[in-house]
Amino acid sequence: MKPTKSHGRLSIGATRKPRDLMTETPRLKGAWCAKIVTLFPEMFPGILGASLTGKALKDGLWALETVDLRMFGEGKHKNVDDTPSGGGAGMVLRADVVSNALATAAQGAPRDRKKWPVVYMSPRGKPLTQAMAQEFSEADGMTILCGRFEGVDERVIEAYDIQEVSLGDFVLTGGEIAAQALIDATVRLIPRVLGNHASTEEESFSHGLLEHPQYTRPAIWEGRAIPEILQSGHHGNIDLWRKAQAERLTKERRPDLWRAYCDLHDRDPDEDQEL
Ligand code: SAH
Repeated sequence: MKPTKSHGRLSIGATRKPRDLMTETPRLKGAWCAKIVTLFPEMFPGILGASLTGKALKDGLWALETVDLRMFGEGKHKNVDDTPSGGGAGMVLRADVVSNALATAAQGAPRDRKKWPVVYMSPRGKPLTQAMAQEFSEADGMTILCGRFEGVDERVIEAYDIQEVSLGDFVLTGGEIAAQALIDATVRLIPRVLGNHASTEEESFSHGLLEHPQYTRPAIWEGRAIPEILQSGHHGNIDLWRKAQAERLTKERRPDLWRAYCDLHDRDPDEDQEL
């Protein structure tokens, strides 16, 4: 599909077909693809268009398509929502409208949810973790439904075997920021998206711990020196120091992660180590 240009911007034409946001760029065969079902396709690629994720998108290492929910709306006014059954404040996205958009997104995507997860961004979902991002990055791609208003009719969530994923215990006005956060966490795990793949193996959560503190020049800043050991050149000791720091921070800040880590490594979470 060739995008029509108007005033130098990709036009948002009245089409029910998914819109490929980067058609002018190559898409590498088998590249991971995110299909976003949203009332606001113009919000994409958004932040993902910048920096490393943006460069990787341009290089075709991953791809992005939006499905405009409005195009599936009912009647002259393209209504997508209605009042909640049983009463109450706000509006709910209609099951038939969302279903038609999801069916369009499903075209050309594997039906196996392992190969192609279908996710609804929702505060009621499982909180997003590094392990989930890792799993998503190993799929062929995924469909992400962004809610608005009071959310989506429950029946469509059941019918499409949709996984609900939350960005955290707070309420946003829409799923688009959450979707961009999820995609960012996911695509950076795709090989070659980050120049330096090793950096994702060492960082927070990859070993169940928060990352150790980081330092760089100047060696002394406003009277504060970099820990001496980091300047010793002794890599064995540096690794030990970093691990001890990572354990200390995790124990202090995230008792939940610390307990899980201790279980896994057969350690007593209350042990009094000289860290
Ligand atoms: N009435 C809902 C909140 C709706 S907020 C409730 O109380 O659970 C509107 C939309 O924003 C949701 O449909 C969802 O897609 C998105 N959203 C809000 N908070 C979110 C969060 N913490 N994580 C992911 N998506 C969220």
